[in-house]
Amino acid sequence: MAYKITDACISCGACASECPVNAITEGDGIYVIDASTCIDCGNCANVCPVGAPVAE
Ligand code: SF4
Ligand code: SF4
Repeated sequence: MAYKITDACISCGACASECPVNAITEGDGIYVIDASTCIDCGNCANVCPVGAPVAE
């Protein structure tokens, strides 16, 4: 299981600093989660202003 950031992302960067395993990086237009690193904690979804990170 991992979270995935959808196209709703506005690249605010809030989630990246809240990820305990540094799985989130800035991508091309939206931020991206490394699924193999994500520990499914939900922090990114909790801090995102637009609900872009979703559990897969
Ligand atoms: Fe990082 Fe947690 Fe979001 Fe996974 S669910 S990307 S571990 S903040
Ligand atoms: Fe994108 Fe939400 Fe992360 Fe901001 S907090 S970079 S909108 S996923």
